[in-house]
Amino acid sequence: MSINIMIVEDEPAIADLVGVYLRNENYKVHIFHGGEPALATLETTIYDLAILDVMLPDMDGFSICRKIREDYFFPIIMLTAKVEDIDKITGLTIGADDYITKPFNPIELVARVKTQLRRYKRYNHAGNDKIGSDFSERTKNEYDFAGLIINKDTHKCSLYGEVISLTPLEFNILWFLCENKGRVVPTEELFEQVWGEKYMNSNNTVMAHIARLREKMNEPSRKPKFIKTVWGVGYTIE
Ligand code: CA
Repeated sequence: MSINIMIVEDEPAIADLVGVYLRNENYKVHIFHGGEPALATLETTIYDLAILDVMLPDMDGFSICRKIREDYFFPIIMLTAKVEDIDKITGLTIGADDYITKPFNPIELVARVKTQLRRYKRYNHAGNDKIGSDFSERTKNEYDFAGLIINKDTHKCSLYGEVISLTPLEFNILWFLCENKGRVVPTEELFEQVWGEKYMNSNNTVMAHIARLREKMNEPSRKPKFIKTVWGVGYTIE
């Protein structure tokens, strides 16, 4: 199965360069010079990842990102030249998973693409090859805890009937905590499971994502109802 990557970039030189590097990794590359034509293909092509330039002639990359996130869950990497844009992206309000600033080294972009794809695939296929061996636990695909419903097949999450729009990382964090309900998940374990990388002690990434997740769930920071912090250890859903 080929891996489809959407590239939306209006500068042909950059789009072609990125295309060459990604094709070299055997990815199927779909290049668009504007947002509208790219979005028009969402229903006919199953994408595994998108790389979106922020400054485009027809619509900006943030709008494309939001539009994709209404229905799709694949990772999105933003390309940006402006520092202000990075704030928007790292604020994680638009649903992007990573960003890279121009000018960039194509090799670094390829590395980021691989990291995102690894997380995405790992999450999507986790447990699939184990069906039969450990059927009852591994095939659980939905949790319903006191108004919080999270479904792994549809990637949808709702709280008291209201849909919560989560980025893939946020979804994976919440899913992993739900899977381990009742147990305190150490921050290190959570990071390594969700990010698929070695945990560094100085890393505040998990905390930042949990904070954002609680915000989306309208959780009071002092007394969160769902995701509880166990100081010095990690997080738990009771
Ligand atoms: Ca541009």
